[in-house]
Amino acid sequence: MIRQAVIMAGGLGSRLKDKTALMPKGFIEIGGMPIVEQSVRKLFAAGIEEIIIGTGHCAEWYERLAVQYPGIRLAKNEGYAETGSMGTLACCAPLVYGDFLLLESDLLYDAIGLTVLINETHDNVLLASGATGSGDEVYLESDAAGFLVRNSKNRTAIVRLAGELVGISRVQKYALDQMVSYMNAHRSDEPKMEYETAMSAVSTQSVRIFIRKIEYFLWREIDDASHLTMAEALYPKIEEAESLRQIRREVLLNPGPATTSDSVKYAQVCADICPRETEFGEVMEWIRAELSCMAGKSGSIETVLFGGSGTAADEVMLSSCIPDTGKLLIVDNGAYGTRFAKIASVYKLNFDVFKSSGFTPLDTEAVKAKLLESAYTHFAIVYHETTTGLLNPAPELCRFCHDHGITTIVDAVSAFAAIPIDMDREGFDFMASTSNKNIQGMAGVAFVFCRKEALEPLASYPMRNYYLNLWDQYQYFKKTRQTRFTPPVQSLYALRQAIIETKCETIEKRYKRYSACWERLVKAVRKLGLTMLVPEEAQSKLITAIIDPASPKYSFEDLHELARGHGFTIYPGKLAEANTFRIANIGDIQPDEMTTFTQVLEIYMRTL
Ligand code: PLP
Ligand code: MG
Ligand code: MG
Repeated sequence: MIRQAVIMAGGLGSRLKDKTALMPKGFIEIGGMPIVEQSVRKLFAAGIEEIIIGTGHCAEWYERLAVQYPGIRLAKNEGYAETGSMGTLACCAPLVYGDFLLLESDLLYDAIGLTVLINETHDNVLLASGATGSGDEVYLESDAAGFLVRNSKNRTAIVRLAGELVGISRVQKYALDQMVSYMNAHRSDEPKMEYETAMSAVSTQSVRIFIRKIEYFLWREIDDASHLTMAEALYPKIEEAESLRQIRREVLLNPGPATTSDSVKYAQVCADICPRETEFGEVMEWIRAELSCMAGKSGSIETVLFGGSGTAADEVMLSSCIPDTGKLLIVDNGAYGTRFAKIASVYKLNFDVFKSSGFTPLDTEAVKAKLLESAYTHFAIVYHETTTGLLNPAPELCRFCHDHGITTIVDAVSAFAAIPIDMDREGFDFMASTSNKNIQGMAGVAFVFCRKEALEPLASYPMRNYYLNLWDQYQYFKKTRQTRFTPPVQSLYALRQAIIETKCETIEKRYKRYSACWERLVKAVRKLGLTMLVPEEAQSKLITAIIDPASPKYSFEDLHELARGHGFTIYPGKLAEANTFRIANIGDIQPDEMTTFTQVLEIYMRTL
């Protein structure tokens, strides 16, 4: 699996003269965005977890880019003026831990090239194209089997032409090490070595480098003014080619499964793999580690994955985290609190329910008093009641529980990855979530986050079920890097991509985006004279329950059909006490899309 990319961006770009005197080449804008930023986005969308950029000339530009994209790491080539691209690549080498994609910074290209290299069966691959007529071609010569023999800018030096070098390659860590050794051995005779030279040199010795040609690949390298003109002319063609691969957009305003990006959808389309292979174990381990980092301090959380929906994670917690001697208090102020109580009764736990209204803020003092009334050992609460959009004061109550030695169990199914959570700070011992809500992945993976100290005692608790047992699943994965039962392979690949994208956006900024969508909705709701069920200050800003319009003509089905016709899916209410419909604003959606939805809502309201 390819997890890293390296972009060599140290060069002076002197052939572009004044354009690059004070700026690296990669920051030339085409179509309103620096070409290197377009490349960064394509790499993350293709499933690259980390991009290492080798900088030099005007490195501060890249330092600013790295602030915008947390998945970027920088390595500066201090000697950039006296070395070539191989010198920059050598500076990146210590950060590389496996097979990676290697790119030049001055490229405009169709993202399909990345997919082709990721799908390659050869370990070391140069991407090549047919004739570009750019005037700066690097020609590649291959042997009869298609492996690199030499490269040259002189066409006549090439015997068997395999294509033109694009500047995007797939490289093994071992090959990189060989290239660095070759460079070091030739420092005095070739101080300004280019990476192609080192690659050709090692290819004849210990490493075989395959040339993968795409005859009509859309790409341009920008080394001088004429290249820039050609690249600008090519840009619309690249845009068109990429747009043809877009998937029809449906904006889900139901409270999950949420709208996903195309890159998350495409992450599921990959080579078949047996989930018991080491490679897949590494994927799951990475997912576990990254999710743990999103839920609390590094090293303090263990994430346990199950095949299943959010309810599976809730059932895991209630069935696995309470000893026979335990006594549980459940807060029920919505459908998911009620579900907690139902699960507790199925497992015949010793529990009480604290019942409260689904649309007025929870009386925290009353809950605290109830907690002290009896010898409760465990407390369960839904952080965000998706039923109505009510955000419960779970952190305050769980911290109170911690002060009184009570273990806490939190359903954060629809809160996690939108509302920033630090389980240590909030006093959450166990927390449930799922792959298809705010993390913006596909349905099928349930996860339980555990504070390590709270997890260890589970070793001695009775096993009340088999498939959903937390301790067994945790132990088995720790020992084998496998789940006990068949995992949802493709949903896990989608989750991996969703995590890459969440890290790019950050949870803080995601919540800001969601809140911006919510504000657009609330503005329209007020303008249309509609009423929200929950007082604004108690709302999560993730889901809004709106009381049905009073008109006798109102029909949820009609509104649903109209919205569906415009590409929006909405959801009915879920509360016995009030007739509502619900608009969620989670997932891969933008504020302008919410505005479009409010216009549809307005059209419908006029028909009443
Ligand atoms: N808990 C909460 C707070 C939810 O919002 C949901 C689903 O919407 C669930 C649990 C159950 O999740 P699932 O339908 O994936 O089982
Ligand atoms: Mg060139
Ligand atoms: Mg170049």
